[in-house]
Amino acid sequence: MKLSVVGTGYVGLVSGACFADLDNEVICVDIDEEKIEGLKNGVMPIYEPGLKEVVDRNYDNGNLEFTTDLAKAVKESDIIFIAVGTPSTEDGGADLSAVKAVAEVIAENINDYKIVIDKSTVPVGTGDWVEGLISEKMTGDYEFDVVSCPEFLREGSAVGDTMHPDRVIIGSESEKAAKILDDLHQDFDAPIIHTDRYSAEVIKYAANAFLATKISFINEVANICERTGANVEDVAKGIGTDHRISDKFLRAGVGYGGACFPKDTKAFVKTAAENDYDFKVVSSVVEVNRLQKETLVNKLKTIMPDLEGRTISLLGLAFKPNTDDMREAPSRTVVKQLLEAGAEVKASDPVAMEEAKEIFADKITYCEDPYETMKDSDALILVTEWDDFKDLDLNRVKGLLNAPIFIDGRNCYEPEEMKQKGFIYHSVGRPAVSQKDLVSFGEIAATE
Ligand code: NAD
Repeated sequence: MKLSVVGTGYVGLVSGACFADLDNEVICVDIDEEKIEGLKNGVMPIYEPGLKEVVDRNYDNGNLEFTTDLAKAVKESDIIFIAVGTPSTEDGGADLSAVKAVAEVIAENINDYKIVIDKSTVPVGTGDWVEGLISEKMTGDYEFDVVSCPEFLREGSAVGDTMHPDRVIIGSESEKAAKILDDLHQDFDAPIIHTDRYSAEVIKYAANAFLATKISFINEVANICERTGANVEDVAKGIGTDHRISDKFLRAGVGYGGACFPKDTKAFVKTAAENDYDFKVVSSVVEVNRLQKETLVNKLKTIMPDLEGRTISLLGLAFKPNTDDMREAPSRTVVKQLLEAGAEVKASDPVAMEEAKEIFADKITYCEDPYETMKDSDALILVTEWDDFKDLDLNRVKGLLNAPIFIDGRNCYEPEEMKQKGFIYHSVGRPAVSQKDLVSFGEIAATE
């Protein structure tokens, strides 16, 4: 079986490399020439732990090819995965223009039986639409099947997730295609769930919406904990040990970001609306997340109401650790709020600096090292829980800051320890250490 994977981003490149590692011949295709040239020269376009080793190994042994020539790839492949981006449209829907562009080239170049797999996250009914496009544009009379195999990998652990998925979903109207795809996926050692195509398309959105719901739920519980004196970490442990709930996705923080949850929750709500249904739960999840991203600067303002002319340091810009992805990252909201309030912003991130420069340009100052970032700053905000930021030398941090103000968006430090060290410390859903606490503790923590 020869495979093509169209779109060499987080999903396409990782899937293509992993299929190649399982001894399939894979052609990875992208329209971005620079990306493809880089890949031919061993340059990874994204930061993903373990990816370079898998790509290099399979490029060297000839299992993996990189090209911009989609027409040729279509002709040479039995199975074509569509893994292009499906970003949000302005009205919250999914932009399917890249999917359409790929389907059209498939139609023009189909020369034998092909299985076309939608791996991109696409609204229910897209499989029908792709099938229609190919049938309409194809010049000869060729057999083909369109199947939905949604992807569930997580950035930061994408290689491991792809090699060891919890399940493989095959949404197919064709038994022939389903059988071939069963064989293709057998080495993944994961349960295969067969569904119709519509259900497979909905599964992906329902999975992401459910996980996003857990996050917004615990963030709202955190907000209640802050107002009542409870501790969200204890609450999360208390509920997460119930197997029906599970402890996953119950970490309160600064809200979800990235390429998937924000756009997929909005697109799911839009699909519901288009089908005359008001999806109240997921609409609220989206709104709670928007507000949660603003909570860190709002907390800082309770300590330092006027941020004009202040220098504020941020630790972490990527939407989560182990990725350079800045799409919908909470840091973007934090930076925006700070700049609007007239503050100067300094920031560092172990891998997302180049991505950040594309977004913030010269509006903020980029620092190589967390300690350099916080030097002479009026407050520190921890946005992304990279390991580098979880184990800071707190005495050094206190010495470098103009005022010992630490807003921890990921609960990386213990309030009691922060109090002992003399920090004014706010985290998420846990007791804050205020200036009053420090004064009563015998500390002088001047903020002015
Ligand atoms: P990405 O933006 O990282 O990569 C998409 C790639 O497609 C880019 O390299 C782009 O140049 C290429 N492309 C665009 N139009 C093309 C065309 N006409 N022909 C060839 N290549 C083209 O996107 P991603 O994060 O890999 O996501 C891809 C899809 O998978 C999306 O639908 C996304 O929702 C879904 N998904 C993403 C993740 C994730 O964690 N990133 C997880 C599961 C599913």
